[in-house]
Amino acid sequence: MKSTSITLSEFYHRFPKADLHYHLLGGVRLETMLSFAEKYNVNLTEQDAKAYYRAHQEETGIVKGGIEALTFLYQLMREPEDYAQVLLEVAEDAHACGVKYIETFWNPSDTELSYPVVTEALAEAIDEAYQRMGIIIRLIPSINREKSPEEAVAMVNEMVAHPHPYVLGIGIDYKEHNAPVEKFWKAYRIAKQHGYKLTAHCSEFGLHWRNVETGIELIEVDRIDHGYTVIDNPALVQKYSQAGIPFTVIPSNTYYFKQWPEHQQWCENHPIRTMAKAGMNIIPCTDDWHIHNTTSANCYRVMVEDFGFDLDSLKQMMINSIEACWMPNELKDQWLAEWSYEFDALRTNLIAEPVIAPEMKISYRR
Ligand SMILES: [Zn+2]
Repeated sequence: MKSTSITLSEFYHRFPKADLHYHLLGGVRLETMLSFAEKYNVNLTEQDAKAYYRAHQEETGIVKGGIEALTFLYQLMREPEDYAQVLLEVAEDAHACGVKYIETFWNPSDTELSYPVVTEALAEAIDEAYQRMGIIIRLIPSINREKSPEEAVAMVNEMVAHPHPYVLGIGIDYKEHNAPVEKFWKAYRIAKQHGYKLTAHCSEFGLHWRNVETGIELIEVDRIDHGYTVIDNPALVQKYSQAGIPFTVIPSNTYYFKQWPEHQQWCENHPIRTMAKAGMNIIPCTDDWHIHNTTSANCYRVMVEDFGFDLDSLKQMMINSIEACWMPNELKDQWLAEWSYEFDALRTNLIAEPVIAPEMKISYRR
């Protein structure tokens, strides 16, 4: 064996990655949640806290959802230094996984602190993370769709009043059932008029594909987050494949785990596979890193070992992530060259290529 030989696990951890769908508070470590509770005298036992974390829910027997976790955490973070701490820990965990770039969501309408105060705290931590680790992080203020459209407009007006070069665009998240993206058209329009990029969680939780269509055709988003039920409309799949619209997709998505609790069924039926087979522009992302008990390396591992993609497919997804990110084109061109070189170099050092069952294998190209 060569001294430079690496295992598949090392490969997933080391090749350069960009995560374009990352909720900042989904990346709060369990011990950090507990430390905030202690700092502000909030009654929270370790058992209570563990109920928010998928890694511990079996042991506690209590399951609290990701949205509940984020809502609770916003109330626990009361000083700028709390946001800085979380951002630096997010950077450390991502850096250890070979992540070079993150675009992270946070919800300004949920914070105890004002928009410019949180933005400044995050921006300072972003600079520190870059100096210490070389990781680049940028911000996507996100609409809490469980609140009113007027609050969304107020959020965008705050962004316009306090512009920051690290704030690249807007998103929308939380429970979609009674809050399709068009309800927030005004906030999106103001953001677009001021040069912000647009993305939106659409057709999550098994909701109808028209939410994706509305996001793309009416709101004119640059990217879709989730969007899985688009596969129920083959004509749209074909249209968006040809247009190359980027979809951030989440292997750890809760809805499909519940849909197919049996592992093999989940592997076979997951819409991410169908989207890929149709040549859609998909980008694997983590969504809620610690809350979902995942990492960027694990996210790509699942794509191979559970969904059956080969390593050429993985490289295509890495390329997709660079092309779909909101950094300047010169930097993206540089990343395309450097990251591809690094991916290939690491691949040649693999002890063995992954073995994929023939009936599951997908060679994904665009
Ligand atoms: Zn999300």
